[in-house]
Amino acid sequence: MREMNQQDLLDTDRSHIWHPYSAIDADLPVFAVVAAQGVRLRLADGRTLIDGMASWWCVIHGYNHPALNAAIEEQLADMAHVMFGGITHPPAARLARRLVEITPPGLELVFFADSGSVAVEVALKMAIQHWYSLGKPDKRRFVALRSGYHGDTLHAMSVCDPVTGMHTLFNEVLPRQWFVPAPQAGVDGVADPGDIEALEGVLAEHAERIAALILEPVAQGAGGMRFYSPDYLRRARELCDRYGVLMIADEIATGFGRTGRLFACEHAGIAPDILCVGKALTGGYLTLAATLATRKVGEAISRGEPGVFMHGPTFMANPLACAVALASIDLLLDSPWQERVRAIEQGLRDGLGPCAQMAHVAEVRVLGAIGVVELEKPVDVRRVQPLFVEQGVWVRPFGRLVYLMPPFIIEADELALLTRAVVQVVGGLVVEDGCCVPGSS
Ligand SMILES: *Cc1c(COP(=O)(O)O)cnc(C)c1O
Repeated sequence: MREMNQQDLLDTDRSHIWHPYSAIDADLPVFAVVAAQGVRLRLADGRTLIDGMASWWCVIHGYNHPALNAAIEEQLADMAHVMFGGITHPPAARLARRLVEITPPGLELVFFADSGSVAVEVALKMAIQHWYSLGKPDKRRFVALRSGYHGDTLHAMSVCDPVTGMHTLFNEVLPRQWFVPAPQAGVDGVADPGDIEALEGVLAEHAERIAALILEPVAQGAGGMRFYSPDYLRRARELCDRYGVLMIADEIATGFGRTGRLFACEHAGIAPDILCVGKALTGGYLTLAATLATRKVGEAISRGEPGVFMHGPTFMANPLACAVALASIDLLLDSPWQERVRAIEQGLRDGLGPCAQMAHVAEVRVLGAIGVVELEKPVDVRRVQPLFVEQGVWVRPFGRLVYLMPPFIIEADELALLTRAVVQVVGGLVVEDGCCVPGSS
């Protein structure tokens, strides 16, 4: 069952499979991966690639980790799944307790979801229901930051950046939200007064209709890979309190150490009313996410009308996923992860630094284990992706961004190989017809 002729695999893929953000007959290369170990992916043709993406932020401990494998195998011997309506089980209880312990203070209630987007939907619904129960049904809309990304389901999409989130296509379908500028001040700066004014302006004028502010703390992910001042986050928390608006922190990408703190809210010393986690939660093994809320939010919902929270995924708190999430958190906290992330941060700064001098590069920026090379023009992925594979690395450019967020266990020489490949490939690009394409050499 595991074996498949490579050509058969690629042909079947081309005929029947839809890939993320792809057309069915696009002439985009896909690479067949048959195994993965540590920081390396093994292709069907025998080549191995160093993974610079950690499978989209998830695989913080590397692939095929014995402790994570064991956690799943042990849980599998007990039960793979059981419904969560009217039933509880040890992996869910232990994981909930653990999440409450390690997340910012005050978040005491855990709602398990099956993907990040669903966790965001749950957070938005919690915020709406919280105000509905308190007799304020008009507070049902949201404020979001430009360049934000919160998932691909419809309501989550409505709080994504209107440009990168493809809003125009769905304009007539999506609820209208308020957007404020992406914070301009960098991680070491104080919040830009204009940004605070813009946020306060929206809250002051529309608080009676706003349920919550939703944001990715300090590091914005797929909407632009931007980093911003923790001071902004602190000020935003104060404004939410002053104007009676909940704060939802989407830490699906930033959670579990990626920015150098266990949760990015810690950079600002704040706690949101509602927190979303996902992605690295299971170490990249299974799909699982969670929405945490304060007891105040939970009590408002539970004591008002209709008195219950209206959500319940079929695979809620899947025991295999909870078991591997627990093992992943233990592994992380028992490891010198702060040192590792700091070393990766330095390696990314040193290694990607030369890109900053290139004419077609707009900016190089690094925070924790995230390294970004922002180009002046979008990358022609079809032509550029194979160049990274030729260099022995897996790097997936996206729009104008070439970025790295490797597993935390990556060694210095492996990281150097990754950054050298980025310098080499980006250095070889030229701008043609508004796109970054490989030069002729
Ligand atoms: C990936 C991501 C999501 C969506 O998670 P899925 O598991 O892909 O649905 C939401 N918010 C942020 C910040 C993310 O990075």
